[in-house]
Amino acid sequence: MSVLVTGGAGYIGSHVAHALLDRGDAVAVLDNLSTGNRAYVGEDAVFVEGDIADAALVKQVVARHGVESVLHFAGSIVVPDSVADPLGYYENNVVRTRALIQALVEAEVKQFIFSSTATVYAADAPQPLAEAEVKAPISPYARSKLMTEWMLEDVSRAHDFRHMVLRYFNVAGADPAGRTGQSSPKATHLIKRAAQVALGRVPHLDIFGTDYPTADGTGVRDYIHVTDLAAAHLLALDALRAGAPSATYNCGYGRGLSVRDVVSGVERVIGRRLPVLESARRPGDPPTLISDPRRIKAELGWMPVHDDLDGIIRSAIAWERRFNSA
Ligand code: UDP
Repeated sequence: MSVLVTGGAGYIGSHVAHALLDRGDAVAVLDNLSTGNRAYVGEDAVFVEGDIADAALVKQVVARHGVESVLHFAGSIVVPDSVADPLGYYENNVVRTRALIQALVEAEVKQFIFSSTATVYAADAPQPLAEAEVKAPISPYARSKLMTEWMLEDVSRAHDFRHMVLRYFNVAGADPAGRTGQSSPKATHLIKRAAQVALGRVPHLDIFGTDYPTADGTGVRDYIHVTDLAAAHLLALDALRAGAPSATYNCGYGRGLSVRDVVSGVERVIGRRLPVLESARRPGDPPTLISDPRRIKAELGWMPVHDDLDGIIRSAIAWERRFNSA
């Protein structure tokens, strides 16, 4: 019996694959290495380089390794790229995922966990965001995620198939053991960028917008350590294995931190000022995104242990140092 992790060579998938291996689960990783890195896959995992839409390959992996559950991370994740290339994003995130799910249904795999996003919620929905809140994704990226959520709902109604959707808030930080982290050179995320500035790799950090209707005028997000997010996946998997019905869960801590809070955190960690430049708002950025995590805590017993901004920043900087020197 093993778990198939698609996109297991990427940022979040590789953390989850390590967490599964750490507790003794058998793991097969399927990744086409378009953005992932083979070096981030644990040595004890079976690694298969290939495409999620290759039905013959998926069925072969399922049969050969006795796959009973799939954690699906493979996909494209850069929001501005999705705006420029919507068809590419729908192809990669919806069409290929449809092919993957069809192969799995045909191979009688019955348990599926899907990486979704907080950006499926309407920008004007009340915060913190509960799972039932109104959905109104704006970017093709976020729409591709919601389309896949709907596809999974329909498939779970039609077939002997159960799924869990995990809606991620702002994932940050890296494996405390230093085995993997966020490696995309194009990464635009705040804590990743701030770590690059802290190491002098980038001259300054842009603060995108200082006139938001928030306490200090900068954007507020619910930053969650990737290790706590990985733990949420393991709990979702355990619940599916125990027979739980399909469900959707927010993954966040339920508290908001502003861009200035993050800048102060980095300054505390490095012991000096961080060069920043106050810039215009980035198009499409909502003022605030905060999760209501009560459902995942109540139903899956999720208990985050890394809800500490300085710790998240320290792990991001440690990874950035390692990654840049590799
Ligand atoms: N942000 C910023 N400077 C950066 C990157 C991000 O000020 O270099 C802000 C962004 O406007 C948002 C918050 O930081 O308010 C989080 O952005 P990020 O790209 O990390 O995640 P998002 O919420 O956009 O998915």
